[in-house]
Amino acid sequence: MVSAEEWQSKLNTVYQQTKDIKRNPNKNTRCSCGHYITPLNSYRCLYCSEIYCKECAEIHFGKSVDEWRRDNPVQGDE
Ligand SMILES: [Zn+2]
Ligand SMILES: [Zn+2]
Repeated sequence: MVSAEEWQSKLNTVYQQTKDIKRNPNKNTRCSCGHYITPLNSYRCLYCSEIYCKECAEIHFGKSVDEWRRDNPVQGDE
């Protein structure tokens, strides 16, 4: 369960990120961890709309890229 404070802080983050991007789609915005996120390196969550840097996206989406590749090998690639 998400606490009301956590949700409020997420809404503030999403509000700030959306404002940054609406003003200038090429502008960098900030991840809630403080890292700058470039447009090519931004990962928006389908469910909560928050934009993450790569490191935080791996945590938020529950798997690192390496783990995902391991779980989804390409046929003939092993
Ligand atoms: Zn999310
Ligand atoms: Zn981050």
